[in-house]
Amino acid sequence: MTPAIEIDHLSYVYPGGRKALSDVSFSITPGECVAILGPNGAGKSTLLLHLNGLLPEKPGRNGCVRIFGEPVTSETLHRVRQQVGFLFQDPDDQLISATVREDVAFGPLQLGMAVEETTKRVADCLRTAGIGGFEDREPHRLSHGEKRRVCLAGVLACNPQVLVLDEPTSDLDPRGRRELKTLLASLKVARLIATHDLELAVDLCSRAIVLDEGRVVAEGPAVDVLANEELMLRHGLEKPHSLLHRHPHG
Ligand code: ADP
Repeated sequence: MTPAIEIDHLSYVYPGGRKALSDVSFSITPGECVAILGPNGAGKSTLLLHLNGLLPEKPGRNGCVRIFGEPVTSETLHRVRQQVGFLFQDPDDQLISATVREDVAFGPLQLGMAVEETTKRVADCLRTAGIGGFEDREPHRLSHGEKRRVCLAGVLACNPQVLVLDEPTSDLDPRGRRELKTLLASLKVARLIATHDLELAVDLCSRAIVLDEGRVVAEGPAVDVLANEELMLRHGLEKPHSLLHRHPHG
């Protein structure tokens, strides 16, 4: 089966010389939900940005990223972005319009969806994101958590086959977090989630990949990786409470 996401010996150096990724390789099957864990500065955001071609290929990139077998290059970006929905860490980087309606409709209209169908899609996706009826609200006046939901609605409106989420729960209250978790669990698409929310990783993800200093330092079933306290501590993480009595491979 062609992987939904394939990272093939990917290295990346930022302009200025900061090496952010070193020989990262892994793949994710369609429908799989995988956590990317690691301390601050490990390279998680840099890795995710490559999935949508948001970092320049030259001069810093080596290796390849493929989405359903198609290499992400400047020539394929248009097609790739139709398949990959990206939720940025900071919603303010994603919200561009004067109203929630316009913001969520932007993607589908770009993809050529008819106006009437888009109106319905916007309403549906706002409901799914837990903010039904927010069409006329102004994004810049919403709370951080509400903004994040608008971004999520905008991503879902494009019906992506791959969902990339950078710290999706970082500014949600407990109810918002629970609702987001339920929503993400209900989706059938491939999901790659960079998060410090280790309980979320345990509950939602079948697999976890740990990055540190730009390298993959561990990979395996999420419960096994996260239950390995020594591994977690070594890479600036901690064993989640829910796994306190679970031993690695136990
Ligand atoms: P994480 O998401 O795991 O916190 P990042 O991918 O943001 O890590 O950062 C990885 C490394 O790349 C860090 O050393 C960071 O300082 C560096 N970095 C991130 N963005 C830039 C940038 N735009 N220019 C130069 N260096 C950057």
